[in-house]
Amino acid sequence: MILLNPGPVNVSERVRQALLRPDICHRESEFTELQLRIQDKLLKAFVPGAEAEYAAVLITGSGTAAVESALMSAIPHGKRVLVLNNGVYGERLSQMVGLHRLGVSELKYEWTARPDPERLRLALRQHPEVHAVAMVHHETTTGLINPVKEIADVVDSQNRAFILDAVSGLGGETIDIAGSHIYMVAGTAGKCIQGFPGVSFVLVRKGFLERMRQYPKRSWYLHLTHYVDDQGRGMIPFTPAVQAFYGFDEALSELLEEGVANRIQRYKKAATLIRARMAKLGVKPMLTPERQSNTITAYSLPDGVTYEQLHDRLKAQGYVIYAGQGQLESKIFRVANMGALTEAQLTGFLDAFEQACKPA
Ligand SMILES: *Cc1c(COP(=O)(O)O)cnc(C)c1O
Repeated sequence: MILLNPGPVNVSERVRQALLRPDICHRESEFTELQLRIQDKLLKAFVPGAEAEYAAVLITGSGTAAVESALMSAIPHGKRVLVLNNGVYGERLSQMVGLHRLGVSELKYEWTARPDPERLRLALRQHPEVHAVAMVHHETTTGLINPVKEIADVVDSQNRAFILDAVSGLGGETIDIAGSHIYMVAGTAGKCIQGFPGVSFVLVRKGFLERMRQYPKRSWYLHLTHYVDDQGRGMIPFTPAVQAFYGFDEALSELLEEGVANRIQRYKKAATLIRARMAKLGVKPMLTPERQSNTITAYSLPDGVTYEQLHDRLKAQGYVIYAGQGQLESKIFRVANMGALTEAQLTGFLDAFEQACKPA
C-alpha cells in the first residue's frame, strides 16, 4: 500500500529490517546505548550547533504523547497557557490544558489564516499571567505552515515559554529551533523522519528544564522531568517500544545521511509534482501557495465524487488518501507526501487519481 496520509508513512526496507534486531532488556547497557544514539542523532538533526543547549527526551507513544508531555509539564501553579488555534491540532492543545481545569486562553483564527504576531504581542502585554504560548508548526488539518520565527520572536521578547507542536513539521520544513529560542518542540518518529509509529520525543532547552523541576506533576506517565532524570542516567522510566526505537535509530541515520535540507527539498519536489498535476486536472487546493507546507495538500472534492468513492477507488489501486477533519470532513480530501516514496509511485498515484475522478 502506498500511504498518502500524514503518518504512519511508508518506510524504507533498511528501516523495516531494523525491527529484526535482537530482543533486549531496557534495563541493560544495550538499551542505554540505543537511547543515547537516538538522542545524539535527534540533536544533530534538529538543533545543529546547539546540541549542548537542548535535551532530547524519548517517549513511547504516538506524537500526541510528546505534545501532551511538553505542554502539561510546563505550567506552574496559578499560571495560564495561551494557545494560537487555527486548526484541529491547535484546538487539541487547548483541550489538553482545559481538561485539567487549568487556565487556557486562545487566539482563534480561521483554518486558512495564520496567527498574527502583533495581536499576540498585545495579548501578552495585557496578560502577565500567561506563562507559556503554544502553537502548531505545520497544521496538518489544512497543510498550513504557521509563522514560527515571527511568533517565537514575540514570545521571546515578552519572556514567555514557547511550546511548539512540530509533529508533522520536523524533517519536512525548515525551522531554526535554537536560533528562535524555542523552549520545547514535540516530534514523532512516524511522519517526516520516516520511522515507525510508537516513539515520540520532546526537544527541551536545558535552561527551561531546570525551571520545570519546580512545576507540578500532572501525569504519571508523561511528566517530562521524570524522563529527563532517568535518561540522564541512561535509563527510561517505563518499558519502551524497543523495536520502534530500533527503527527510529535507523530512520535517523538515513535522515542524517540524506541531510535534513535535502529531505525537505525532496518533499518539496514531491508536493510540486502533485500540485502541478492536480492543477492540470482542475482540482482546487484550499490554501494559497505561500501558506502550503511541503508535505500535505488539502483539496476540495472534485464535482460528482464523494470522499468515500474517491478513497475506495484509489485504495483498490493501492493508494491511501486522507479525509478532512472537523468542519472539513465532507468537503475536502488530503494528499500527504511524507515517507519513503519514489517519483514513480507518486506518478502512479496521480494516474490512478485521474482515472478515479472520471464518472463511473
Ligand atoms: C499527527 C499529528 C499529531 C499527533 O498525532 P498522533 O496520532 O498522536 O501521532 C500532533 N500534532 C500534529 C500537528 C500532527 O500532525
